[in-house]
Amino acid sequence: MARYRGAVCKLCRREGEKLFLKGVRCYTDKCAIERRPYPPGHHGQRRQKLSDYAIQLREKQKLKRLYGIAERQMSNLFHKATRTKGVTGETMLSLLERRLDNVVYRMGFSASRKEARQLVKHGHFTLNGSKATIPSMVVSTGDVIELREKSRKSDKLKSAPEANSIREIPSWIEVDKDAFKATVRDMPKREDITSTVQERFVVELYSK
Ligand code: SF4
Repeated sequence: MARYRGAVCKLCRREGEKLFLKGVRCYTDKCAIERRPYPPGHHGQRRQKLSDYAIQLREKQKLKRLYGIAERQMSNLFHKATRTKGVTGETMLSLLERRLDNVVYRMGFSASRKEARQLVKHGHFTLNGSKATIPSMVVSTGDVIELREKSRKSDKLKSAPEANSIREIPSWIEVDKDAFKATVRDMPKREDITSTVQERFVVELYSK
């Protein structure tokens, strides 16, 4: 899978929105969006009129970059959403939000989704009591995500929820910091996803 290895702040500047890809730095005035709130590149400050296709593409890219997933995963997810009951755009967001790496990030165990993905891959978490190493696993209501017993000895992981307490824990997850675990209370709703992404444009793009 092709992986973007360039400067991640450029991605936020391209999308014109904070995507919180760098952890703590994103909450400081060192954030590149605060300093240079225009797209990167030589012509970044030029005014551009976007075509309908460009608007749809930008919204899709924003969503992909926010959750750090590849094009293939994104389009698979869209097709899965179309096969599920409900509003396709909202279902697609719910599927993204319920990815295991995102839940670990939301629980406060990592500074960014990228770090959360690595923690999951390295086997630091269990899902309903079994070791879970696949970041794209989708959790459901009632699922329990726990930091593994031996990972609780890590000072970094132990102090992570405190270090990341600047972020609010969404209401659809119930976190017990002392027990290093979280329970999925409910399905995430549209209002739980704070990004300004307009999912209808993503749906329009994939429906062509
Ligand atoms: Fe984006 Fe964070 Fe860089 Fe700001 S500091 S531009 S939010 S990755």
